[in-house]
Amino acid sequence: MYGQMMQQPLLISTLLVHAERHHGEREIVSRRVEGDIHRYTYKDLAARSRRMAKALAALGVKTSDRVATLAWNGYRHMELYYAVSGAGAVLHTVNPRLHPSQIVYIADHAEDQVLFFDLTFLPLIQAVANSTKTIKAFVAMTDRAHMPAADVASKIPNLLCYEELIEAQDDHYEWPSFDENTASSLCYTSGTTGNPKGVLYSHRSTVLHAYAAALPDALNCSARDVILPVVPMFHVNAWSLPYVGCMTGAKLVYPGAGLDGKSLYELFESEGVTLSAGVPTVWQGLLGYVEANDLKFSTMKRTVIGGSACPPAMIRTFGERFGVHVLHAWGMTEMSPLGTACTFKPKHLTQTQEERYAVMAKQGRAIFGVDMKIVDANGKELPWGSETSGDLYVRGPWILSSYYRDEGGDPLVDGWFPTGDVARIDADGYMQITDRSKDVIKSGGEWIGSIDLENIAMAHPAVAMAACIAAKHPKWDERPLLVVMKKPGAEVTKEELLAFFEGKIAKWWTPDDVVFVDAIPLGATGKMQKNKLRDQFKDYNLPTA
Ligand code: ADP
Repeated sequence: MYGQMMQQPLLISTLLVHAERHHGEREIVSRRVEGDIHRYTYKDLAARSRRMAKALAALGVKTSDRVATLAWNGYRHMELYYAVSGAGAVLHTVNPRLHPSQIVYIADHAEDQVLFFDLTFLPLIQAVANSTKTIKAFVAMTDRAHMPAADVASKIPNLLCYEELIEAQDDHYEWPSFDENTASSLCYTSGTTGNPKGVLYSHRSTVLHAYAAALPDALNCSARDVILPVVPMFHVNAWSLPYVGCMTGAKLVYPGAGLDGKSLYELFESEGVTLSAGVPTVWQGLLGYVEANDLKFSTMKRTVIGGSACPPAMIRTFGERFGVHVLHAWGMTEMSPLGTACTFKPKHLTQTQEERYAVMAKQGRAIFGVDMKIVDANGKELPWGSETSGDLYVRGPWILSSYYRDEGGDPLVDGWFPTGDVARIDADGYMQITDRSKDVIKSGGEWIGSIDLENIAMAHPAVAMAACIAAKHPKWDERPLLVVMKKPGAEVTKEELLAFFEGKIAKWWTPDDVVFVDAIPLGATGKMQKNKLRDQFKDYNLPTA
């Protein structure tokens, strides 16, 4: 017997229709690459998205065609989120921090038809425009007055102007209805090894994920919030915040290209931001600025930190110095991206602050919809509540079942997706990542979790960033080598740093050596590129060898 409820597909366009009807006057504020602050409402967003949907049709974009963007977080990018997917085409967000050759590779692989770009990326467009195979038009996301000069423009095939496309259409448009399993957007993994692989989201997975992301024990978003997503719209849909915005009617504040501490802080204060989200490296810049200028956050209550492990020292600084609660979250491109969020259970409310900080350092509990387990090397499930860590597997309706164009074959193991992360799960279900499997340090057959060591090093006041990598050792196979970037003007010796580990970990986990570097390489999504460091130090002679 079937239930007797309406069959309404979960479509991305329905989020926009809801926002226009119920939160039409709520604002969306953007720092533009043109230099000014732009503000309009959800009602304006809806009308302009409809016009853009018509413009796409006029450009010949058909159902399931891929439409690429190379753009910052801003209102025009959000219009494309809705116009492209809402019309039944596929929004392919491209990470502008990738190498131009990789951008050409993924644009060809995705068979993108049109590419929209922010003016910042004009040099990138000049570098790739004549190499991509399928792109028929390049659209500069600006008005006529800011279009590139004629000599530059003439070298880009079919260069169009965003505002002219919008102006050429009216806003009478009905969003089409179709199967909710239709593809909606495409995002390539950063591909630290091998070619990037595409993750193809559907309308259904996106809407379900947005519901889950907004829940109180996830990102806890409501109509009363003012959300500033620092996480880029060019990677994993800015952790769903452009969808959550329409779903909840929260005010959205987009930082554009201004990701430095000063620019972000100004927006936080001028727009009354209550919630933000980003990777630890961004918050480091922000905290540096706020501390150096002796400032405070007057409205920000919470910030979501994920993408790589948030050092406990950062959680503490936010909490103790600024009264900002850090919500540690974990996920990945293949998971839309949210998997876990670290919110308290009732028992934690009566614990001491120290005990709570220990909980907050973990990546958190599974959000409903995500099931997770840890397994040993033979795939056997490991119990929760012990110190043993294992390979983390997940499943759920917003987790990929195969990569775009079946690249890399079947990624699943008995219906579970192996994340490539190594984790332990405590008796309350709080998961803690100890490493990525390829970063684990194997010392005499035992595993040393590099993240634990980095977290300790980063709590030292002189350390700006620390990476722990495996260095070759004749007796133990591998031993930890700590690579450290100091804070500007700060001094610390190797001996002082090693002494800092005493009493915080098992003695045999202590790094065998410390090297100081001017910079630690960061990847396209702001994560430390440990593979590069491993290459750099592959012949390193440990003093213990
Ligand atoms: P990539 O394209 O590099 O895989 P993702 O953005 O998909 O980029 O990164 C996912 C990975 O990032 C996870 O598998 C995990 O290793 C790491 N990660 C994400 N959030 C956290 C976190 N809170 N703590 C530790 N690692 C994290």
